[in-house]
Amino acid sequence: MKVKLRNPDKTHEVAGPATVADVLAGLEINPETVLVIHDGELVTRDRTLPDDAEVEVRPVISGGSRSPRKLRCHACGHPAVLEIARHRASYCATHLVDHVRSQVRTAIDKHTMLSYDERVLVAVSGGKDSLALWDILLDMGYSVDGLYLGLGIGNYSARSEQVVTEFAQRRGATLHTVDLADEYGYDIPDATRIPRRSACGVCGLSKRYVFNRVALEGGYEVMATGHNLDDEAATLLGNVLRWQTPFLARQSPALPEAGGRARKVKPLYRLGEREMAAYCVVRGLDYIVEECPLVGGNTVLRYKDALNELERHSPGTKAQFLFGFLDRARDEHFSEPGHSDGDAISCSECGMPTSPPKGQATDEPVRCAFCRTRGRVLATL
Ligand code: SF4
Ligand SMILES: [Zn+2]
Ligand SMILES: [Zn+2]
Repeated sequence: MKVKLRNPDKTHEVAGPATVADVLAGLEINPETVLVIHDGELVTRDRTLPDDAEVEVRPVISGGSRSPRKLRCHACGHPAVLEIARHRASYCATHLVDHVRSQVRTAIDKHTMLSYDERVLVAVSGGKDSLALWDILLDMGYSVDGLYLGLGIGNYSARSEQVVTEFAQRRGATLHTVDLADEYGYDIPDATRIPRRSACGVCGLSKRYVFNRVALEGGYEVMATGHNLDDEAATLLGNVLRWQTPFLARQSPALPEAGGRARKVKPLYRLGEREMAAYCVVRGLDYIVEECPLVGGNTVLRYKDALNELERHSPGTKAQFLFGFLDRARDEHFSEPGHSDGDAISCSECGMPTSPPKGQATDEPVRCAFCRTRGRVLATL
């Protein structure tokens, strides 16, 4: 059979018939990190593929064998399309969608993330998580618009914008598009010119700034992002490894309004990357599978790899690590009682809220981190 791998694209000839589990084991692929697609449908590890099959092995972890019993949906008994080891559960396409929605519902209710009379802005990149989030919140009846930020990263950005625009048109949803180069005079490849700063660092700062700005100017009460369980567990691991206590104090699925910035929520924090990729496949959502070509500078991927290795041997590790921190450790050990954004002032250049550097009087002019970084990038052009 022909087995097509993605990122980078490569085709392997594998003798069949063989189970999906055996095909993956033969190619030394961790099943936790991929989806297997045959004839446009997801197939689970127990499925036997014929010798003439053409199969796509799609990575679901950015950057990255069990016994062959028949997997059946836990809810209805029909053949399953996805097994979720940490829940010891498998679902058919219909009940996978129900499972995803119910986890989002739990997240929203547990952290009082959204209400039906608020306007929500979701940051969409064209990747699986943010598109799925927009889709789910629209289906749940929330008033939710999208924001796409053009980063100017060649074909990757062109294709991302295309999938986001097509999704918005299909759903009749409102999409705000901001192009970094048109609006602010630089793009992310330009940011690689400044020393001691990674492209991802400038990219993240730019995304947060534009997101805050569009939310503030558009009167949105809540900003939602597609961060999933894998993203949050990897960020937590990175912060723990360096004992970044201020970051630990602020790591939360729901951050309150502060210093003129709208509330920030992460309704997908209870769902893994594989569940989100599978959701997109069964819902027919076209998303950008390609990696950003600048992803090499992103250290979070190394933590994701490490956690996936642990998860492979002990399913549930990632969820226990993240949920245990949120439920039992964060408030008790890492909260910052004295921390407040209450003394936020306006940036002297762009007028957006910012905080004065420590020790500086609040009446002195201050440029926000974004304006300072933008100034450094523009100086290299
Ligand atoms: S990989 Fe880095 S540069 Fe690329 S979109 Fe993500 S944060 Fe931005
Ligand atoms: Zn079912
Ligand atoms: Zn500014």
